[in-house]
Amino acid sequence: MIPFVRQFDFAYGRCDRVSPLIRRVIANNPGPFTFTGTGTYIVGSGAVAVIDPGPADERHLEALLRAIEGETVSHVLVTHTHADHSPLARPFAAATGAAIHAAEPPSPAAGAGVVIEEDDDSAFRPDRVTDEGDVFEGPGWTIETIATPGHASNHLCFALREENALFSGDHVMGWSTTVVSPPDGDMGEYYASLDKVAARGFTTLWPTHGPPVTEPQPFLAAYKAHRLEREAQILEQVRAGRGRIAEMVPVIYAAVDQRLWPAAAHSVLAHLLHLTRAGAITTDGEPTSASEYRLA
Ligand SMILES: [Zn+2]
Repeated sequence: MIPFVRQFDFAYGRCDRVSPLIRRVIANNPGPFTFTGTGTYIVGSGAVAVIDPGPADERHLEALLRAIEGETVSHVLVTHTHADHSPLARPFAAATGAAIHAAEPPSPAAGAGVVIEEDDDSAFRPDRVTDEGDVFEGPGWTIETIATPGHASNHLCFALREENALFSGDHVMGWSTTVVSPPDGDMGEYYASLDKVAARGFTTLWPTHGPPVTEPQPFLAAYKAHRLEREAQILEQVRAGRGRIAEMVPVIYAAVDQRLWPAAAHSVLAHLLHLTRAGAITTDGEPTSASEYRLA
């Protein structure tokens, strides 16, 4: 069982100090993928970095500008280009004069023909492309970029060295598992990114949605175990002759909010692609969401 954390005190638009170096403002965009909404983090004081400005929401922009009144923003950092994370980056950067740092957006073809529940912010362009190992500094804070593809091919986490903390975006969230939706999402890469974060031994994870994870090691181990368990369930379905995703989802996700089933189907596809590559299962032709899978 994953030791989910869902309880926390917040109010929309309010700026809360959540650690010596970190403040957080939550946008009013609750939903099945955003939990209580997008949490935008402000790092440092005086000259600050801002992580995941959030959705295109005028009131959230006002709340952020209120929170940093009298301060300068040196960096806007974006974990990935989903609609609940990146669209406000450009208006916020324009209002503060900061540069936007993020990974290269995925090529438009990567998501072609696939409906995912978290929309891509396809208009997004960073001012500067950042990648693994890049370091950003301000007074009393140092932030390091850690590439964590899986949820999205361009997903980044940001480590705050002074607090041995990680802004984990949607890669690891305390309130829920994340969605891995192909073709942009990739389960093999996701596993590798989970291992990469676990190996760093962070003290605290600050996801973009919900409260922090304050005991990352057991949490990450359970998160990984959950995926392996899901993989075993999928193999079990294939073994039982239910080789199509449409047959598996209602069984495997019987206890889950049906609004999440389309995304769950993509998650199952992510597992099937991974299992196909690993040689455990096979199908005729290219593996797709409509394919019938069988044991190899
Ligand atoms: Zn996302």
